[in-house]
Amino acid sequence: HGRLNNSTSGLKRSFSDENRKPDAFGKRQKLSQHRKALPIASVEKRLVEEVRTHDTLIIVGETGSGKTTQLPQFLYNAGFCGYGKLIGVTQPRRVAAMTVAKRVAEECGVTLGEKVGYAVRFEDVTSSSTRIKYMTDGLLLREALLDPYLSKYSVVIVDEAHERTVQTDVLLGLLKNVQNARSKVVNNHQDTKNTKTNNDMQLDKENGSQSLSFLKQCQGRNPLKLIIMSASLDARIFSEYFGGARAVHIQGRQFPVDIYYTHHNVQDYLDASLTAVFQIHIEEDPGDILVFLTGQEEIESVQRLVKERLKQLPETSQKLVAVPIFSSLPSEQQMQVFAPAPDGFRKVILATNIAETSVTIPGIKYVIDPGFVKARTYDPNKGLSSLNVIPISKAQALQRSGRAGRERSGKCFRLYPENQFEKLEDSTKPEIKRCDLSSIILQLKVLGVDDVIGFDFIDKPSRSAIVKSLEQLYVLGALTDECKLSDPVGRQMASLPLDPIFSKALIRASETEFNCLEEMLITVAMLSVESIFFAPREKLNEARTAMKCFASPDGDHLTLVNVYRAFNEFSEKRSDLSKEKHEKSLRKWCKDNFINSRSLKHARDIHSQIRGNVEQMDLHVASCGDDMLPFRRCLAASFFLNAALKQPEGTYRALANGQVVRIHPSSVLFHEKPECIVFNELVETNHKYIRNTTRVDYLWLHELAPHFYAMQN
Ligand code: ADP
Ligand code: MG
Repeated sequence: HGRLNNSTSGLKRSFSDENRKPDAFGKRQKLSQHRKALPIASVEKRLVEEVRTHDTLIIVGETGSGKTTQLPQFLYNAGFCGYGKLIGVTQPRRVAAMTVAKRVAEECGVTLGEKVGYAVRFEDVTSSSTRIKYMTDGLLLREALLDPYLSKYSVVIVDEAHERTVQTDVLLGLLKNVQNARSKVVNNHQDTKNTKTNNDMQLDKENGSQSLSFLKQCQGRNPLKLIIMSASLDARIFSEYFGGARAVHIQGRQFPVDIYYTHHNVQDYLDASLTAVFQIHIEEDPGDILVFLTGQEEIESVQRLVKERLKQLPETSQKLVAVPIFSSLPSEQQMQVFAPAPDGFRKVILATNIAETSVTIPGIKYVIDPGFVKARTYDPNKGLSSLNVIPISKAQALQRSGRAGRERSGKCFRLYPENQFEKLEDSTKPEIKRCDLSSIILQLKVLGVDDVIGFDFIDKPSRSAIVKSLEQLYVLGALTDECKLSDPVGRQMASLPLDPIFSKALIRASETEFNCLEEMLITVAMLSVESIFFAPREKLNEARTAMKCFASPDGDHLTLVNVYRAFNEFSEKRSDLSKEKHEKSLRKWCKDNFINSRSLKHARDIHSQIRGNVEQMDLHVASCGDDMLPFRRCLAASFFLNAALKQPEGTYRALANGQVVRIHPSSVLFHEKPECIVFNELVETNHKYIRNTTRVDYLWLHELAPHFYAMQN
């Protein structure tokens, strides 16, 4: 131990502390062996050299080859963090940013948040000593609002660029500008240096302080190294976008994977997944199983079903343990998927798309792929965005099956017939082509990009989608008649890490007329998480009865506020218990009331963060007390874009676009069907359903959003 400590004395204190534990040495050695065996390890020197000689570099490498975890460490060790600069690595998904940062901190032998840290929306685990920072692409965009030159960073790595999220696409455009601007400043400075005469030197002396500050400025804006990493083979599009930038490929390892299809279309892919899990478990050799599901709700329901079905297996058979991973999973639980299954257990990982390329989980030999993904889609003509479950692309199906062959040969079970595969799209359409752009446009405006249509997008969104979003921002009051950012409203909206419609709701709620910011903060936090209520199929009636205790006859938003308050009240009553007992009693309360405790916890975290945000903005945080009328009026004033009127046959007509929609069965207003409602979410299954609805008065809409309804007429 002594020798190891000496040879690594440059490392952080926590490392040497950790080393005193008897198993730490073995663990470090194992980690180091694992790192050395990764495909990327053999090309470390070459990669570092490529980064030194090219300001923009595109790296393509198979998933699991070590790009995300290793490259930042290589660059750190090669001295890219001089002058206290950071290496920033962006990820499209928050779980990836968090779990990868934890892994890298472990590999470096440091405490998370010191040398290696992460920042995602609503959570920042970094400090002044952080040098390798993992974050979401959206977060780096937000940082650019405060620091347009991203001067903290010497290197920015845009990871998982093939995912083509809106944030990644916009970030690429922005980084291109930042890189140009930073190299211009440096070049100008060098030109002045080269042409210096004695006179200039004299001048410099006189203006000593000025030239010093200029130098400092330049240090802040040394050229930005930009690295774009992607799992798919198509580097061309990125290379072309960056003026023929150099692209390098890293050879990966891939073992053969046998693909199996179903004979017929399956009716219920959750049920089929469950059957497949147990078939593999009973008939196949050891090895873990990875199941791709579309979201938290599905994952939690399959997790419950696995547990139940296990009880029916004979005592003697090998055991099975199901572990979930999805984006809002509390951080303490995220790392569980990476831990090897206990002896005598087979692990089945229930994952969202996160496991497709963003994180690599060791030990997987079987993949079950129902062939679906949840995606946001947007219809610019109607101005409505919805979250739908849609078929994946061929490229995604290939990525998914590849996950079975990372360490040895494996099997992939596609829960659809082979001819269905042939019908899939080749690749996924970039998100910017199919989403609501208002949030991103608002951010571009703050960054000073006024001509959004002229912005250098890697893939241009349609003109009509841009115009529709500009219109929306205008009716929300974020833009002026001249399409400029309004002050203070537009600026305030942009500074909140929320959808523009939610930001506006918070601002309106602080107005004296409504005075219900407390209630609106709760509402926005609760709407930002998936499924507060859980209603397992086998206990549907019990769940519905439990929900009635919280239900407000006025709608779902008020019901959510009731749940939040009831929970807080209960929590306070039990605050004399020890921390452990307290948490246990809270979990029990949630279980008894059919509330999803993970979601509620997440909502509470979000609440505390956005409360901090609005306090910083000096908005007046007050409660409307027991009188919910001002709150409902405020909901009407905020969500007027999503208002709907009842039609004779019990369906609703959305006022903004005439679309026919229905109230979702999970809504407390499902049976009641009031005349006029506002809603937050549209989901399309066999019908177009709206969720999170509240009863409002039709006349309020005209009174509170006169500009919009006048325009409509
Ligand atoms: P890439 O970015 O090229 O897809 P990564 O750098 O994410 O690859 O992963 C490299 C290797 O590190 C993989 O083999 C993976 O199994 C392992 N790995 C990554 N994160 C963890 C973790 N949290 N726990 C255990 N192994 C991990
Ligand atoms: Mg990666």
